[in-house]
Amino acid sequence: MTALTLALSKGRILEESLPMLARIGLDPAGDIDRLLRVPSRTPGVSLLIIRPTDVPTYVEYGAADLGIVGKDVLMEHGSTGLYEPLDLDIAKCRLSVAAQKDAPKRDPRRRLRVATKYPEITRRHFADKGEQVEIIKLYGSMELAPLVGLADVIVDLVATGGTLRANGLIETEVICQVSSRLVVNKASLKTKHAEIAALLDQIRRAGQTLKAA
Ligand code: ATP
Ligand code: MG
Repeated sequence: MTALTLALSKGRILEESLPMLARIGLDPAGDIDRLLRVPSRTPGVSLLIIRPTDVPTYVEYGAADLGIVGKDVLMEHGSTGLYEPLDLDIAKCRLSVAAQKDAPKRDPRRRLRVATKYPEITRRHFADKGEQVEIIKLYGSMELAPLVGLADVIVDLVATGGTLRANGLIETEVICQVSSRLVVNKASLKTKHAEIAALLDQIRRAGQTLKAA
């Protein structure tokens, strides 16, 4: 049997992927809190447990044949070189612009300052509206930036809006809806076509049963 490697996004997506993976026998057979590479319960299929933002890179270079990753990460990375055959409909949230509820008035001659983990999506979003903004790249806790005057607004993931509210921020614009996707290396799709097609089919059916349940 041809070996397959599936890269999983550590954290929230992994948690939400596990029930689906268990249904098709692809759940990890090893300690995923310590190991970066673990066998799955299906012989020949191994799993990589990596940072969400690294998943597109592993799959693009063929270090993994397949990956599970958020649409936000895919959009930021740019998905040329990857097939994206399946919306897994898990880890759902949205990418939004948020501002302080009682924002101090901004000097209109100064460019809007936007703090985000997603500089590429942010640049594109404002450029599409004909607006040039100053982007401040952060790696986490974006909500803090407007409170301390580092930025006027943020672009970040929102699920319930609870974190925004707790920090006195309001959602001013939705950029796009986000869910997790299955991605496939283009060369693998050719060289391991039968195995990958079978796996896609299983995941599709596992998703449907989960929804029906
Ligand atoms: P990293 O380890 O690279 O810093 P992270 O800590 O941001 O990543 P998570 O918070 O687990 O990792 O988010 C990973 C992915 O989960 C995001 O890219 C997004 O697709 C999805 N996600 C993030 N926040 C939510 C949320 N509130 N609800 C549902 N899905 C979310
Ligand atoms: Mg993190």
